[in-house]
Amino acid sequence: MKQMMKTREFKENAMTRFLDASAVAALVRGVGVSQAIVQMADFVRQDFLRWPAFEKSARLASHSPVGVIELMPVSDGVQFAFKYVNGHPRNAVYALPTVMACGMLAEVQTGFPLLLADLTLATALRTAATSALAARAMARPGARAMALIGNGAQAEFQSLAFHAMLGVSTIRAFDIDPVATRRLIRNLADVPGLAITPAGSVRDALDGADIVTTVTADKTRATILSPDMIRPGVHLNAVGGDCPGKTELHADILHRARIVVEYAPQSRIEGEVQQWPEAPVSELWEVLSGTAPGRVAPEDVTLFDSVGFALEDYSALRWLHATALARHAGQFIELVAMPPEPRDLYGWMLRETEEPIKKPGLVSGLYAS
Ligand code: NAD
Repeated sequence: MKQMMKTREFKENAMTRFLDASAVAALVRGVGVSQAIVQMADFVRQDFLRWPAFEKSARLASHSPVGVIELMPVSDGVQFAFKYVNGHPRNAVYALPTVMACGMLAEVQTGFPLLLADLTLATALRTAATSALAARAMARPGARAMALIGNGAQAEFQSLAFHAMLGVSTIRAFDIDPVATRRLIRNLADVPGLAITPAGSVRDALDGADIVTTVTADKTRATILSPDMIRPGVHLNAVGGDCPGKTELHADILHRARIVVEYAPQSRIEGEVQQWPEAPVSELWEVLSGTAPGRVAPEDVTLFDSVGFALEDYSALRWLHATALARHAGQFIELVAMPPEPRDLYGWMLRETEEPIKKPGLVSGLYAS
């Protein structure tokens, strides 16, 4: 009886929470960007520590000469999430972002979509959060100086994550486009305790760096870092190589490094390790749970070979959903048809009026709310 009433209430109010790009931006501004990254990192960490609970697969990628479009699903048997994301390094020509994303969180019990959201900003947050989580386990303690190569859309988020989560206080930034570096420095000029200075070249940026983040976009086998640039003890956070034929590091660097990836079956196709598919790697969940070491010796060169895994997007959606619930953010939309008599879809269609017949409800799921 209780279940029937709950079901009726759910059906009368069944709406999907919708966070468009502006709503996500407002939510992140409301929480504070650094705080949002720290909170998201905690969600990512919690989810990676539940690694065996998830049904995982390498993402489905549709490649074209100019980019890639990917679908990234994951489920823990209670919730299901997927992200749609592209990577088009030449999109600047059309004044479009390189990376654009949206995604959905649904409940497994019914399949009802709980949340539909822009994930472009959340991708930047979760990527930065995951990079910093990995670096916390892999970089030398006391690492405070970072080189940041590639100063595009992801750059501010990477900077803030390393500042908030590792205490990085100086960043030497380099981009082939000096406008990008100037924008990065201007955008983060007011962050207390963080000094970002422009570098004249990659080599110049690396001078004195404990951590090197590469986050460039080019659909090619680039050599942003060559072996002679790599000092003992450095931690490499390689973010921009995330597709077959799209890498940032010279292959010989891999042979010198202790390598950590997110999900080996996907990373061996897409990551820096595509250049050495049989490379010995640990997965991030092993390092975060203490079953594999991030760093063994101070002089180790460590490499987080990031490509972005669906679980991070599940964490991002989970964070967006929880934060939106707490702050009453977003709209409720009739994303899927909800006929009063579920098998009379046809009759519902004929009765449906032009005006939305449902008022925005507060129930965002039968089982998960
Ligand atoms: P973006 O296009 O906004 O910025 C890329 C920047 O790299 C540009 O400013 C460009 O001038 C610069 N660049 C290109 N080639 C360079 C080079 N040889 N040396 C120095 N700078 C160079 O892209 P974005 O959104 O910042 O994404 C950056 C990269 O990160 C992309 O390749 C994207 O696919 C990847 N990415 C990875 C993840 C992940 O989870 N690993 C997540 C998001 C984005």
